[in-house]
Amino acid sequence: LRKLVVITGASSGLGLNCATTLAKTGRYFVVMACRDVEKGKQVAKEKGLPDNSYVVMKLELGNLQSVRDFVSNLKAFKAARPLTHLICNAAVYKPKDPEPAWTDDGFEMSMGVNHLGHFLLVHLLMDDMSRAKGARVCIVGSITGNTNTVGGGLVYPQADLGKLQGFEKGAKKPVAMADGKPFFGAKAYKDSKVCNMMTVSELNRLYHKDTGIVFSSMYPGCIAETALFREKRPWFRKAFPWFMKYVTGGYVGMEEAGERLAQVIDDPQCTKSGVYWSWNGGAQTVGRWSPDGKPRGAGGSGGEIFENQQSDAVRDLPTAKKMWKLSREAVGLS
Ligand code: NDP
Repeated sequence: LRKLVVITGASSGLGLNCATTLAKTGRYFVVMACRDVEKGKQVAKEKGLPDNSYVVMKLELGNLQSVRDFVSNLKAFKAARPLTHLICNAAVYKPKDPEPAWTDDGFEMSMGVNHLGHFLLVHLLMDDMSRAKGARVCIVGSITGNTNTVGGGLVYPQADLGKLQGFEKGAKKPVAMADGKPFFGAKAYKDSKVCNMMTVSELNRLYHKDTGIVFSSMYPGCIAETALFREKRPWFRKAFPWFMKYVTGGYVGMEEAGERLAQVIDDPQCTKSGVYWSWNGGAQTVGRWSPDGKPRGAGGSGGEIFENQQSDAVRDLPTAKKMWKLSREAVGLS
């Protein structure tokens, strides 16, 4: 029986390529959780996912009722096999918006979609997953939330949750930012990614021992060509992949990034919980892992997986605990 894996934001970029990799192994049945079901169906066809290897289901992370509906609709598939794998991948990045956009529940869009929607989703699915053997949850992180890296620390603005003054006020309109300060789109994205990574650490600390679920986060490398950068100016979208490829060496192609995310879900090497996975070296070379199980390292000097160190901001336990409590309240869990 194939394992059941849910991937959010599987209609584009990293999520779509990961879905393709896992579906083509023949060992997974993929639930593509997409805000636009028609788009999901279309891109799955274009990518050549085998017909009986996937289904596209509606999930609008900017609407908490949609998250609840998704979990309840998933029951039809869980009847056949337990849910063993969950990948929280979807995200929005709104660096150019002068004013915040709001989710249906009144959260600032990037925090609401990237963090709070996923936060609720994981909570609602955890009980089921704890009954499955070998369950894994991965929430995609980012270097941009990591203040100890060039991409995260030196590139303005820095992620900073402050004392979570905005979350304390309920995190809802007109409060846009976690720290309660005026809206700043690029920072809101980074803050949400810090929350994603903190959530993984807290899930690991609170639930790994009792449930056996392996919780992890990962940074796929800079996938400079995805739609995530859709709001950036044309010159930036042209120059950015080049810059990441030849200047910083942090570039990774979409297919390889998808394989990296799939690796975190599938590779026996990745059964340690609480890890933030990254890949070393230039990403132009192929990785040592491949979905058909055969190592394909020959000739590659980079692309090897390692346990990365999280930033001090992510490891700040009192803030993580507070973020956890206030996020639970925000999504109606306590
Ligand atoms: P894309 O924009 O290509 O993909 C984002 C996905 O999220 C899309 O499928 C999109 O749907 C979906 N999505 C957006 N909003 C919602 C919503 N409200 N409800 C449900 N789904 C939604 O970006 P990437 O593939 O680059 O990003 C994937 C992940 O990788 C993100 O978590 C991002 O933070 C992370 N990441 C990306 C990096 C990069 O360099 N690109 C670097 C580090 C991390 P739709 O197809 O309808 O737009």
